[in-house]
Amino acid sequence: MLMYLVTKKIILAFLSICLSVSLCLAGQHNELKYIFLFIGDGMGTNQRLTADYYKQAIDTGNAKKVGDKLSLSMNKLPVHGIMTTHPSDAYITDSAAAGTAMACGQRVRRLTLGVDDTNKPIKNITEILRHKGWKIGILTTTAIDHSTPAAFYAHQSDRGKYYEIFQQMLSSGFEYFASGYSIAAINDNFNAFELAEKAGYKVCRKRDELKTVSDDKVWVCNPNWGKAGAMPFNSDRTKIDFTLAEYVENGIRLLTNDKGFFMMIEGGKIDWACHHNDAYSMVSDIIGMDQAVDMALNFYHKHLNETLIIVTADHETGGMAMGGRNDYFRPAKLKGQIGSAERFEIEIEKMKEKGADFNKIVDKTEKWFGIEDLTEYEINDLKTAYELSSAGEIDESMPKEYRKYAQKNPYTVTAFRIFSERAGISWGSVTHTATPVMVTAIGIGAERFCGLLDITEIYSQIFSLVNGCDSK
Ligand SMILES: [Zn+2]
Repeated sequence: MLMYLVTKKIILAFLSICLSVSLCLAGQHNELKYIFLFIGDGMGTNQRLTADYYKQAIDTGNAKKVGDKLSLSMNKLPVHGIMTTHPSDAYITDSAAAGTAMACGQRVRRLTLGVDDTNKPIKNITEILRHKGWKIGILTTTAIDHSTPAAFYAHQSDRGKYYEIFQQMLSSGFEYFASGYSIAAINDNFNAFELAEKAGYKVCRKRDELKTVSDDKVWVCNPNWGKAGAMPFNSDRTKIDFTLAEYVENGIRLLTNDKGFFMMIEGGKIDWACHHNDAYSMVSDIIGMDQAVDMALNFYHKHLNETLIIVTADHETGGMAMGGRNDYFRPAKLKGQIGSAERFEIEIEKMKEKGADFNKIVDKTEKWFGIEDLTEYEINDLKTAYELSSAGEIDESMPKEYRKYAQKNPYTVTAFRIFSERAGISWGSVTHTATPVMVTAIGIGAERFCGLLDITEIYSQIFSLVNGCDSK
């Protein structure tokens, strides 16, 4: 370990010297002014690589072999690190504690947002940068008051206090929010747009408005939202839905200024897909986030000595493995799926209500995954799950089923696990794990994000980089 730390220090020193020398030779001023922090919620290393291999297979038409080069821009960034994510009270974190660790630099209890273990608010990086005159953007594919975005503007002892969190979003004064809707507004049945407009925010819900809006404070909200106010999964999106890449593109347009900007961009539904063991929706949301990374890279190439891009995750979700019962792994097989597990479950339930028999449900399942060859063994598994899911809620009084289906709809879980297995993907969990996540980076100070990191170092490295720049 000691040897490793010494080696890490030597590499860091070497990279810093190289960077300083090259900047001196170029005769350019090195001042960090623009930071993009991408957080793929639940996006473990295996998820990142599976999405990469899937894209390669689709792009090259070769489903059986990995090429020599990675295909996702986020994976090709020059600096790579690995990061532990645990909170102060457990090994496994949640998005509130993990978001707080990255935004505030402190390890806190699960389910808490921007407060320490005595519930005292901790100043976060966005508040510090705003004080310096930087503009702030908070972008997510979930609702704007969900935990990851909230960690960058709210201070609450409970991530479930959505109304209070939403109020703190409105009073933050941050220049740019882009998201799905608001969980607070859905739960408490109020119009979030009216409150936002009263607080001075221009609300944008159409593509032509998004492209032209130029107000000082903007909240872009996707035209549609589903469960918990989130944007649709990429696997379900329609033409009118915004993309995370559009959110970043317009964020750059609205926030660029001489003092600087900080953008936190969350691919929030990667986590939700993994909770469902829905590999195709996971892959397509990671690819959607990668297109947003491309927008940031376009900006980086125009502002080489002023920009830092970091791409990481708050934790891994699903205990996903690239491989299963044998050495077979073929992510391109996910391609046939036509929609998310969330939508699948709704459609199957509708069919059941209308009295469809099991054979019709199996037909629908095959169509959903673009297959025609479910085996007898797989159909038997589906039949057992179907009978259980028709019998009502699974609860802890049914220990075997409770464990097997992890308190989810047995039919959905079984169908998506079968489809994952066909692609050689297996799942050890339906929730978060303690598995470390990948960090990649490019730009000013990127070398600080290599090696073994702790989640609180996202904050501390940004803080010292920004203050280092200030003291010059
Ligand atoms: Zn989660």
